[in-house]
Amino acid sequence: MFDGTDEVDVEAVTAAFGTVEMVAKGRAAGAACPDSGRFSDRVHDRYRRTLKDVPLAGRGFVIRLTVRRFICGVADCPRRTFAEPFSRLAAPHARFTTRLNHALERVGLALAGPAGARLAAQLGFGAGRMTLLRRVIALPDPQFSTPRVLGVDDFAIRRGQTYSTVLTSVEDHRVVDVLPTREAGPLAAWLIRYPGVEIVCRDRAGAYAEGARRGAPDALQIANRFHLWQGLGRAVETCVAAHRD
Ligand SMILES: [Zn+2]
Repeated sequence: MFDGTDEVDVEAVTAAFGTVEMVAKGRAAGAACPDSGRFSDRVHDRYRRTLKDVPLAGRGFVIRLTVRRFICGVADCPRRTFAEPFSRLAAPHARFTTRLNHALERVGLALAGPAGARLAAQLGFGAGRMTLLRRVIALPDPQFSTPRVLGVDDFAIRRGQTYSTVLTSVEDHRVVDVLPTREAGPLAAWLIRYPGVEIVCRDRAGAYAEGARRGAPDALQIANRFHLWQGLGRAVETCVAAHRD
């Protein structure tokens, strides 16, 4: 699919010191200049490009690619020479193959941080925590749809110190957004920006009630079950304490 191995001719494969090396060169007769679009097969020079790929049978896998630089023959083209592209094998200037990048994205999405880095190391991907993070950050945002039933909850970033608000889609249990505070303002602004919420499932905090009222006046507000139970528990406790004698 995106492995691009049909873009290259393999010249040699060697295995040494736990690494498999594949020496390869472009298979195409020539390429089109990215500026003029004119096809060229006039080779100016060649250079070596190293691409790290997904491990092969438990060994590191490296592709040593000979890249041709073609001469653009168009007189008024601003580009005199251009490197042959390997569009499916790897992005321009990338040091990893597209296939390895996809694998790292999947690991990074499933297991962020140190756990992902450990798994990547065990699989022989040799990618640190920051590499995984960069791959995940570079991903396009997933398709967003405004949930019909919105859950609004606060959570502490550092225990008891900084509070944020997490918005969830109650019906399909996914996190929709995170707001920087637990004030009414950001919630109201969010609801105005993403209209269509019919039910706001919130805790009993006055700020969320006010935010929902301002941002989605037509939405039904319900206190969520956890907070109802918590409130009931507190009421029972107070009542029992009052009648202890
Ligand atoms: Zn050109």
